[in-house]
Amino acid sequence: MLTSARKSMPAIDYVSIVKSVYKDRRAMVMGALACVLGVALTAFKTGSPVLWGIAAGFVLVTAYRYVDMTLFARAKVGPTDVEAASRWELRATYGAVLFAFLAGLWCFASLVFVDDPVAELLSLAITVSCMVGIVTRNFGLDRLLTIQLIVALTLISTGLVLANTPYHWFLAFVMFIILVSFRFLAADVRAVLLTAVHSRVEASRLASELDTALDTMQHGLCMLDANGLVAVANDRAELVFAGFVGGNWTGRPFSALISAAASRGTIPQRAAARLLDTVNAGGGGKVILRLPDSQYIEVTVSSQQDRTVLLFEDITERVKSEERINFMAHYDSLTGLPNRAFFTEQVEADLERRRASQADDLTVLMIVDIDDFKHVNDTLGHLIGDRVLVETSERLRKALGKIYTVARLGGDEFIVYRSGVPRDADLRTDAELILEAMSPAFNIMGEVFSSNASIGLVASKDPIDDLEALMIKADLALYKAKNGGKSQVQAFHDEMDTEYRYRQRLKAELKLCIAEGGLSLVYQPIVDLRTRRVVSCEALARWNHPELGVIPPSVFIPVAEETGLISEVSRWVLASATEECRTWPDDVSVSVNISARDFRDADVTQMVSNALASSGLAPHRLEIEVTETALIDERQSATHILSQLAAQGIGIALDDFGTGYSSLSYLHSLPFSKLKIDRSFVMDITSNPRSLKLLTNVAQLGKDINLAVTAEGVETEEQLALIQDHTAVDQIQGYLFGIPLPAREVGELVSRMTRAAMQPAGKADHGKRAVNS
Ligand code: C2E
Ligand code: CA
Ligand code: CA
Repeated sequence: MLTSARKSMPAIDYVSIVKSVYKDRRAMVMGALACVLGVALTAFKTGSPVLWGIAAGFVLVTAYRYVDMTLFARAKVGPTDVEAASRWELRATYGAVLFAFLAGLWCFASLVFVDDPVAELLSLAITVSCMVGIVTRNFGLDRLLTIQLIVALTLISTGLVLANTPYHWFLAFVMFIILVSFRFLAADVRAVLLTAVHSRVEASRLASELDTALDTMQHGLCMLDANGLVAVANDRAELVFAGFVGGNWTGRPFSALISAAASRGTIPQRAAARLLDTVNAGGGGKVILRLPDSQYIEVTVSSQQDRTVLLFEDITERVKSEERINFMAHYDSLTGLPNRAFFTEQVEADLERRRASQADDLTVLMIVDIDDFKHVNDTLGHLIGDRVLVETSERLRKALGKIYTVARLGGDEFIVYRSGVPRDADLRTDAELILEAMSPAFNIMGEVFSSNASIGLVASKDPIDDLEALMIKADLALYKAKNGGKSQVQAFHDEMDTEYRYRQRLKAELKLCIAEGGLSLVYQPIVDLRTRRVVSCEALARWNHPELGVIPPSVFIPVAEETGLISEVSRWVLASATEECRTWPDDVSVSVNISARDFRDADVTQMVSNALASSGLAPHRLEIEVTETALIDERQSATHILSQLAAQGIGIALDDFGTGYSSLSYLHSLPFSKLKIDRSFVMDITSNPRSLKLLTNVAQLGKDINLAVTAEGVETEEQLALIQDHTAVDQIQGYLFGIPLPAREVGELVSRMTRAAMQPAGKADHGKRAVNS
């Protein structure tokens, strides 16, 4: 009960209450003056020295309190300086208690010593009124007030009791109730005041926290009042606004400011209009402002009752990364051309429009494929390969202008599309523009080389043709262009479609055919030019289809390669051919063709070992034939595998020499034992001396690097004679000595020719004729 108020309230409240006690010197002096005059008057009337003493006491105490209050005013106690306030509270308590004591003593003396009704009336009335003043001033300091009340009440009631009449007793009782109720009154006032103060403090604390929260927000926030004036804007919002229109926005009409920004061009007109529409509509929504400095601000508007809250978010990074993602999804990162997906989207939409409008003109689609791009990649590196793709895309764009949509399909394939082409337009010219654009040599990173392209073209007036159909047709045409010797344009025609279906059927049936043993082998003898003995037979695969008849290997081998079935074919050929060779004389070998895909997909070394192991054939009686294409396409693995095979004594022949790149570089680096000069070199040696010369040179080239040389496709005696007389060819393969024959027949042929070769020279021809019959 008598503890300091500092413990029961927050510091700031306690200090300000102590200050309030010291505040009003005038009121204190007035109260004290009333007491001094009152006591002096009664002392004068009664002549009591005690009362004169009390009057003097009042003067002294008042002087003390006055000085104390003056000192306090100078002391400048800080708003939370509890320690100082507590000292001052104590000093105030001394003064106040002394005052209460004197007032109580005055009443006591008037009642007990003086016994004068006027003195009694004056002392009690003035003391009670002073007590009212004390309560109103000191209500905050419970200890001070309580001691004052106890001291005054004790003296007054003791005096009244000692006066000893029932009226005085009654008055003592009333005084007791009044003074005690004063204390409760003070407590009530204190509670009310403190609650009010606390609520105000709490409100301002909340407000400042909200302010801090708003100002630390990443986004700008502003609220408009019922009249559309900016009521609140956090720091971020003000920053955003400063970019629109300078100055303080708070309290100003939002729509006028936005309109001003629009007319200054700091916000685009249309975006500003949309923003104001959204704000005025009342519901809510989002508006994106694209500012002149390529900054994107998303404004989220939400309204409730008559307030509108706007959230400003800088979404520049998000928009940029969306743009990047969008670009990556639609464009090829290397060439910057539309990618396959985006191209498909665009063209399908265009085709759809054309169908709807029943257009009567042409749609043109071309697939452009860089010839031998793999070769560029492998020999010059991927960096240069990439640059070729970039430069090709630029050349295409330049050659075709804007009328064609150009896209990259993937790899080294590009696609161009154009619709609404007049029916009589010359499409070849457009395609030739591409070939022309490709014809200048590439000069990249110091490497100068040429790289051409093959083009498959389809022109359709059929509205049923969708993109997929067009692409299949262009692909078929491209396939033809590639097979027809590359660097050319092929337009699609319907036979290609038939051919395509035919190939599709072969693809579907080849697997079954292999599984059921539907392939067979024929063997073609290779004859030594000098001895006329069969030195080897080349195994050639055959597919005798029950419905389609005989399918040549030039058709089904590429199909097997495309479908990945080739390694099964090769495994089977190796096994059968080595098995068959075992039945031939020891000096006759067998030659087996291995394709490019085998080097990639299959373990050729293992396949060969298995075949040799199960047949028991000596390795030197097996010869592997590979083409230049296989070496170029799968150079690394081919080199590795062929070296392993050669090391076992297996012969390695370079097949179809002269039809590919005839790049001589790998003749050195690979372990060849034989060069097989392609049929095309032999074909017209009888009619064209230059062809003979060429054959002579090529054969010499083989000899120079210690290779056995075989000439393929020798069909006539004249060809044979020329070869014998003019070239260094060692061996002959061709219809003249034997067409490819089934195993049983070739066995007979080999022994017959061996016998014939051992007979005198004149009878040798008979052997040959027997072969051809
Ligand atoms: P290739 O390796 O150049 O085989 C020689 C081809 O020339 C054979 O055609 C053969 O019948 C033909 N030929 C032989 N002498 C003459 C002639 O005097 N005149 C003419 N005009 N042609 C002659 P075939 O059997 O149609 O084989 C074609 C190609 O198919 C082969 O060419 C070879 O590259 C491939 N091939 C055949 N069998 C297989 C095989 O089992 N595996 C692989 N990977 N390819 C094979
Ligand atoms: Ca061959
Ligand atoms: Ca050949």
